[in-house]
Amino acid sequence: MATTEAAEPQLVVKCPTCGASLAVSPEDLVRTCNYCGETIDVDGKKIPDHQMIPSQDINTIKANIEAFLVKNKIKAGTSIDEIKASYIPYWLVPFDSQTHYFGVLNGTVQRQKTETYRDSEGKTRTRTVTYSVPVYKPEEGNFARSGRENVIARKHTAFYGFDKFQDTIFLENVQPFDFNKVKVHAAEFINAEVDAHEAQMDAYGRVENGNRSIAAGKVSKLVRCDSQVNLKYPIYVHTALWTARYKFQGKVYKVSASGDSGKVVKGEVPLTLGRRMKNLILGLAIMVVASIVANYGFNEVQLNANDNGWIAVIIGIVIVALSFCPTSTAFKMQLEKSDKIKRPSKQKGQKPVARAPAPAPAPAPQ
Ligand SMILES: [Zn+2]
Repeated sequence: MATTEAAEPQLVVKCPTCGASLAVSPEDLVRTCNYCGETIDVDGKKIPDHQMIPSQDINTIKANIEAFLVKNKIKAGTSIDEIKASYIPYWLVPFDSQTHYFGVLNGTVQRQKTETYRDSEGKTRTRTVTYSVPVYKPEEGNFARSGRENVIARKHTAFYGFDKFQDTIFLENVQPFDFNKVKVHAAEFINAEVDAHEAQMDAYGRVENGNRSIAAGKVSKLVRCDSQVNLKYPIYVHTALWTARYKFQGKVYKVSASGDSGKVVKGEVPLTLGRRMKNLILGLAIMVVASIVANYGFNEVQLNANDNGWIAVIIGIVIVALSFCPTSTAFKMQLEKSDKIKRPSKQKGQKPVARAPAPAPAPAPQ
């Protein structure tokens, strides 16, 4: 149920598996039942390959958010008032491709010529010199490339921190969808506004562009590049983004965390008056140091004609630039911070995701 875009007209459809009535937006092309986890398209047909990245549990997420707040100098014991998980949909489009390219390679060849010169005694002599000339030679080749393109299955997403989430979500280790792993969090499902076919079209263009830039890297000038792209039926993946609110000195701030890593992807961090004052004093102190250094340098140049004084002047200017950081923070009310999120290593011995036999594969767009 997409409850994020509030004032949308809603349709009511019946879940074919558990019979529950589901309120959906007309823009939702793939819908997941909030009661049993069944996932169907607009015609009520099951999505063949539904996978997920299970979320860390709510206590881990809360603990990570609390640690994030403490690290950002928000005092321990700040209460997290609202917290919920939303499962965001992706299509992973498996592809293989064959590329043939043709271009021009710039190079040089060495040539030799004989020239005459006069030696120290004035006699005319000859010698051989080597020089290089540019040449252009045609170059062509083939390469194969296969993999998966990740396509977000939403056109509108209004979640706090979604931009960061996008950059830190790693969809290598997906596993079959298990509604029991979702139920425990009372999570909300975000339905897809992009269907399998549209995801394939998007992936097709990206694979072609990717191949073109690989080919362009193999020649000095790319003349032609033809890719044959085969797309398989995509895998539908749900992965959790947690959003939370916490209160600090009477105001409410937002934090979001990735269910996969459990880390904070983005969080608002209020700057207390004390912290802003500290930054202001630090900024001013740095500026005082800068002016002393620059003044010393200037005097060296002017009075003692010591050109090395310029070095001190330049160092002074650099220090002034450094003072910008704390000074600008002193005039902000809040910052936005993130945890560092590392790409998880591929699980050892994990087989590639089993794919349910595709029904009629959607035709590859041309
Ligand atoms: Zn159901």
